[in-house]
Amino acid sequence: MPEFTVGQVLPELRVKVTRSTVVRYSGASTDFNEIHFSDRHARAIGLPGVVAHGMWTMGAGLKLVTDAVGDPGRVLSYFVRFTRPVVVPDTDDGTEVVYSGKVTEVADGIAKIALTATCGDDAVLGAARAEVSPARRLALSSCSADRFEVASTGRPIDPSPLLRDHTTLRVGGAADRFVVAGSEAELISIVTDCDERGVPVLILGGGSNLLVADAGFPGTVVRVANTGIEADVSACGGAAVRVAAGVDWDDFVAHAVAQEWCGIETLSGIPGSVGATPIQNVGAYGAEVAQTISSVRTWDRRDRAQKTFPVVDCGFGYRTSRFKREPGRYVVLEVSYQFTLGNLSRPIAYSELAGRLGVEVGARVDSRLVREKVLEIRRGKGMVLDPSDHDTWSAGSFFTNPILDADAAGALPDDAPRFPAGGGRVKTSAAWLIQHAGFSRGYGNARAALSGKHVLALTNRGGASAADLVEVAGQVRAGVAERFGVTLVPEVNLIGLELPEASS
Ligand SMILES: Cc1cc2nc3c(=O)[nH]c(=O)nc-3n(C[C@H](O)[C@H](O)[C@H](O)COP(=O)(O)OP(=O)(O)OC[C@H]3O[C@@H](n4cnc5c(N)ncnc54)[C@H](O)[C@@H]3O)c2cc1C
Repeated sequence: MPEFTVGQVLPELRVKVTRSTVVRYSGASTDFNEIHFSDRHARAIGLPGVVAHGMWTMGAGLKLVTDAVGDPGRVLSYFVRFTRPVVVPDTDDGTEVVYSGKVTEVADGIAKIALTATCGDDAVLGAARAEVSPARRLALSSCSADRFEVASTGRPIDPSPLLRDHTTLRVGGAADRFVVAGSEAELISIVTDCDERGVPVLILGGGSNLLVADAGFPGTVVRVANTGIEADVSACGGAAVRVAAGVDWDDFVAHAVAQEWCGIETLSGIPGSVGATPIQNVGAYGAEVAQTISSVRTWDRRDRAQKTFPVVDCGFGYRTSRFKREPGRYVVLEVSYQFTLGNLSRPIAYSELAGRLGVEVGARVDSRLVREKVLEIRRGKGMVLDPSDHDTWSAGSFFTNPILDADAAGALPDDAPRFPAGGGRVKTSAAWLIQHAGFSRGYGNARAALSGKHVLALTNRGGASAADLVEVAGQVRAGVAERFGVTLVPEVNLIGLELPEASS
């Protein structure tokens, strides 16, 4: 008997919301807009009083669906429009939102559910709908053999299987097979086909964080090229934006700044794709993507199922995430963001940027100006791609900033930078260690060398091989280990090669 039938009504869900719920949600979401705790501010913009966050109203309703299916991982998509705010009186009982749902379509085991949400007489959500996958592991209905033929032969195969043509370090030999996946279904289909046949897979975005061996990749390289940005914007809920993994990251940042979606302006100029940004929790100038991501939708290659991770389950940390800790398991299909609205940036948290903007740390500035200044600073450091500038033929920072325990940090010279990193640990600067171990800008040889603008970037001066780059990286790592007893960890993903052991 099918789990869902068209017309089936899901059990009603009643959710109480009080002022205390709203305050706690402000803390969890970091959305501290005054309309969520001050009647005075709410009335000043024409609301009857304090209102619940739109995202809370949306999120609470999804429980109707997850209760019905038992597994949140089966929710494939969820969409709402905010029609009226949920006004929360300052009483012990607060108010109540009543959610109901009805199955509108079942096709290939995927059920579409229409939801309603009311508070008193008001419908507070409109056009709300969710899609859920079948109870068994997601049968690859969109990834059948027929579809794979389309994906593997119908789309143009990139003319060059040479990975040096697809990486910003411009090194790397040929892949056995190179395929461009122009849609999510193709991406899943190609990866699943390879997994079933035991063929190694390398997921490729913009190639800006990869150092690939001269021998190339003995398997299929799949370039993620799905596109699309969908936004749901409301004065109360801000901008909830879903972005396909293949969208160019900096194009998306420029779009967000133009739309006055606040939160990623300091991440301007970082090359690569949207889908790669959660992998290492991309960050720069005092911000990281974890601060604005609301969820990441993935294809789990191990369980052969789509899985959506809310931000709290992404395991984000400094240049890491659950996706990086289990390399290759998750293919990012789509990233969702929650932005506040307005033309002012997030508070500036990085002193160099604040100085260039002529403001104090903590100030908020026109986001367009922030983007401009960040791009200016990055260009000065060779951190914006420019084919004519060999200092940008890199993968960005080659090593991460080391996070040390208190003893190791205590053993560093007094003037070494130290930043608290939680749990009594200390973050220091990889660039400082490299410089003070005697490696200055330009260190290396005619083919591979540290950037002339920034010691943390290892660059191809033209004609470098992967082996040339590994040699210089190995020398730097060994020198730092010998001088400071710290083994630098590559931030760049090494494919088919390793750095020589550095003994401290
Ligand atoms: C000049 C320059 C400046 C940089 N500046 C910064 C910076 O300021 N901050 C920063 O954090 N990084 C920086 N980087 C590093 C890099 O741009 C980022 O890590 C970026 O997110 C990588 O994106 P990409 O699409 O190029 O990923 P790729 O290099 O193609 O892939 C990187 C890794 O992610 C995996 N991957 C890619 N897409 C997906 C997907 N859809 N699903 C699952 N896995 C995937 C790949 O398999 C690989 O392991 C810089 C790089 C350069 C060249």
